[in-house]
Amino acid sequence: MNQDGKKRWVAVVGNPNAGKSTLFNALTGLRQRVGNYPGVTVEKRTGTAFTLHGEAIELIDLPGLYSLNPRSPDEKIAWQVLHGESSGVPRPDAVLCVVDASNLERNLFLVTQVMELGLPVLVALNMVDVAEGRGIRLHPQELSQKLGVKFIPTQAHRGKGLVELRAALGQSLAHPGPRQWTMPPPLAAAVGQIAAAWRESLPAESRAEGKALELLTGSNSGPEGAKKLAAAWRERFRKEAYDWSAAVVHARYSYLQTVLKEAGIGSGISGGSWTDWIDALVLHPVAGWGILAGMMMSLFVSIFSIASYPMEWIDAGFTGLGQWLQGWMPPGIVCDLLVDGVLAGVGGVVIFLPQILILFFFLGLLEDSGYLARAAFLLDRVMHPVGLSGKSFIPLLSSYACAIPGIMATRTVEDPKDRLTTILIAPLMSCSARIPVYTTLLAAAVPVALVPVWGKAAAMLGLYLLGTGSAFLLAWVFRKKMLGGGSPPLILELPPYRCPAFQTVALRMWERALIFLRRAGTVILALSILLWFVSSFPKSSEDESINLAGSFAGQLGHWIEPVIRPLGFDWRIGIGLVASFAAREVFVSTMSIVYHVGGEEEGLIQAMRTATWPDGALIYTPVTCLSLMVFYVYALQCLSTVAVAKRETGGWKWPVFMMIYMTGLAYLGAWLVQIVGRALGF
Ligand code: GDP
Ligand code: MG
Repeated sequence: MNQDGKKRWVAVVGNPNAGKSTLFNALTGLRQRVGNYPGVTVEKRTGTAFTLHGEAIELIDLPGLYSLNPRSPDEKIAWQVLHGESSGVPRPDAVLCVVDASNLERNLFLVTQVMELGLPVLVALNMVDVAEGRGIRLHPQELSQKLGVKFIPTQAHRGKGLVELRAALGQSLAHPGPRQWTMPPPLAAAVGQIAAAWRESLPAESRAEGKALELLTGSNSGPEGAKKLAAAWRERFRKEAYDWSAAVVHARYSYLQTVLKEAGIGSGISGGSWTDWIDALVLHPVAGWGILAGMMMSLFVSIFSIASYPMEWIDAGFTGLGQWLQGWMPPGIVCDLLVDGVLAGVGGVVIFLPQILILFFFLGLLEDSGYLARAAFLLDRVMHPVGLSGKSFIPLLSSYACAIPGIMATRTVEDPKDRLTTILIAPLMSCSARIPVYTTLLAAAVPVALVPVWGKAAAMLGLYLLGTGSAFLLAWVFRKKMLGGGSPPLILELPPYRCPAFQTVALRMWERALIFLRRAGTVILALSILLWFVSSFPKSSEDESINLAGSFAGQLGHWIEPVIRPLGFDWRIGIGLVASFAAREVFVSTMSIVYHVGGEEEGLIQAMRTATWPDGALIYTPVTCLSLMVFYVYALQCLSTVAVAKRETGGWKWPVFMMIYMTGLAYLGAWLVQIVGRALGF
């Protein structure tokens, strides 16, 4: 409990990759809630942990930070929370710093800043195993003594040190002592003056000096007099070309170096020879790309081969359920609604759950093992020429799962133009909702027997490359030509290779499965019912296909057919395109509803393969399937993405621009495929 008798709040702070989330998960288990910070879409994760005495405390996992100077939107949020300026989150009663013991100097930099916030601090000295593996001898006792805050060794992924941590959280945590690093003279003069002005207006302020430094760094809260002085000093330093912020960084680092040296902590043997050896291979300009392509290829091969078994079970489940319903209920509208609407729509999408889980399993492994950072390094060589930095890599990579977290992750990109460009191209990365569409169309395009699994995987890789390649080209157009200006250099750090933690990966898959199923149970369910309705009414005939043609959906499809005819699409595909405007994967459900095949995947593919134009020619020729896939590579068919883009760019201008350019590209791309396909005589 804190003084007011309320639950204590403890903020979890640390560098990216220090193990914050792992520790947070280990301490809170499943007692966690994920939401957004008020007004913005940066993920807010809170959860209840228990001290050894059973006191419940609230933990809040903040975005990863290197420093407390609020530069990127992510850092700003952490800054606001720690200063109690974030509405919806009380000012924390204490801070739990998570540091990577194998990289102490840089990690402790943030700790020295946190120690000046005026809050009690506890440090989890995490990744002890990694540090020791590199020959670094850690002395937690000495560190605690020298820095004046408690250090507790942990190995978050194995749950080691948690008991000690929970015990320490239960005791009343000590406030850190006064600042120990020495300010360079010009800065000391400035801070002294500003602090004096502060005390004049607010004599009770105990951290006037710390707050004075914050004012100088760009914080905006404090008495008017102090604020004016800070502005004047900043101006003076600028005129004298005195880089005071570099001086602060330098002073902190030299203090830390002394502390580490006195505590007997060396930097250890840097890297391990095998780390260097693997890096030389995976970062190699030629071999590196081969390895990256190989990884992606095995991802797609497993998506097709392993996933096919659970997919069959789900398929059989939905088919069985449909048959059971038809046998049990009297035939009529309600039965039709349930079987042709709900089951066909929801089943058509849920069946792809295994593929999506495999995608996240692979991404989790790659991220956790440290390989993804290498891929980012490799990709930086291509990103730089188009005007983006490697910082955009993680947002873009997340977009392969889903553009929504991808766009949210752009908050770590400091340069506003880089950030906007990244948002604009993020939806071009083939997201997991496209998998159902691609898989269905690939199956419809060519008989399974003719193409081995790796053939389909290669086709899939091709579609991904098309999206990614186009995204890079457009990034160049947007960043260099449209927005203008130079791009910042990349500072990327390569984390050590680690054995992926099963729990971390499993938890992420679980979260994704929930999100996917929730979507199927809400958005997709509602759209399926709507689609069933507009494609069944008005009833004009007992014959299903005649009825569909005359239904609302059929009329709409016929109405837009002239526009999509040059792409090789008929009015039924037109219904699918319109319906999937809100969410791409709805295309598959729509086709199941249009062809009246229940939730059955095989049935849909059969129906598509035999569908013909009025003159008897097949509709789904390989060229048309390809042209449709290309359409889906480019089209922005996701209302949630539009909504997030609006929120993140602060207006309708950019989402509208996104919609126009992507739809234009989709149409153009699909049309080109038809033209070229016909010219080649397919
Ligand atoms: P965050 O960015 O600070 O949230 O870091 P994460 O919690 O995502 O952890 C990054 C990676 O480090 C994950 O792969 C964890 O499994 C791993 N990890 C966390 N703690 C330890 C540890 O004590 N030792 C080792 N070897 N790995 C750890
Ligand atoms: Mg994290």
